[in-house]
Amino acid sequence: MLSSGRKFAGSGFGVWPCRRTIIAAMAALVLLPIEISDAGWLSDVFKSSSKQGKSSKRVATPKPATLAKPAASPKRHTAKLAALGPAGLKPSALKPVAPKCDPSKFRIVLDVGHTAESGGAISARNVDEFVFNLRLAQRIEAQLKAEGFAETRLLLTEGKARSSLVKRVSATNNLPANLFLSIHHDSVPKSFLEDWEFEGKKSRFSDRFSGYSVFVSLNNPEFKTSLSFAELLGKEMKAQGLQYAQQYSQPIMGRYRHPLLNKETGVYSYDKLVVLRKSKMPAVLLEAGSIINRDEELKMDSAERRDIISGGVTAAVKEFCDPRWGILGPV
Ligand SMILES: [Zn+2]
Repeated sequence: MLSSGRKFAGSGFGVWPCRRTIIAAMAALVLLPIEISDAGWLSDVFKSSSKQGKSSKRVATPKPATLAKPAASPKRHTAKLAALGPAGLKPSALKPVAPKCDPSKFRIVLDVGHTAESGGAISARNVDEFVFNLRLAQRIEAQLKAEGFAETRLLLTEGKARSSLVKRVSATNNLPANLFLSIHHDSVPKSFLEDWEFEGKKSRFSDRFSGYSVFVSLNNPEFKTSLSFAELLGKEMKAQGLQYAQQYSQPIMGRYRHPLLNKETGVYSYDKLVVLRKSKMPAVLLEAGSIINRDEELKMDSAERRDIISGGVTAAVKEFCDPRWGILGPV
């Protein structure tokens, strides 16, 4: 339980000393200054614009020189498996007629949303979204690796606002990955914010909405496969007892309104999101929960909730990698 927003705002990076080397190594590979012109609500920063598009052309392609190049990409096979979908899987599909996805070679990029310098949304208790994103992504990474997905990688980007998010995507495309999952925490449009005081500091909150949501882009070249994973992810989040955020399909959201693709799993389309539409591999963005909602912020700060979400993500990845997991039961 969160005792204080300041507590982990001040010591957030000190709690993973054993991972520092790994993070530093990864950061050295993919750290790229990014420009985010709008430090407001999270969704704004992912929208492409003509300005961003122009600046992106001046961005040099990053060189992941020290990353080992995989021998062969299982993407085609993965897409084929995923395209079957859990619902459409016939008994015959249980037969190992084709080599199944090998978790040890399946490359997953966990994109930590925002940066230390440009932290995204600010929680009801004045903690940057980036802090939540990093903690959750690290927990997911640990669980995926524990389940045999040894090629799981955190994608950390640094820098102040102003740089194009295309840089982040370039790093991802050059890794390269079989699956891209961007980790975020949700907020609300500014018009919904209310004032309150937390630890003597004027703060802002909105208890109006809560829940996770999953986004895909129709403009992603692997849209169908992205949607397959998104639906698995939404299904597993729901199976963990979580509820999705329903407000995005409502008129009250104005320009933040998005089509709800699956009313059971909470999968929305957000076609302009740069990290989704520019990624060459299947790409999904998870808003794990609301940190502007005062009650949900406390939950999102708990190790218990991180474990629950990590369990959902890991189950979805396993099922995506091998749909038979969906038949064989809980993972
Ligand atoms: Zn965000």
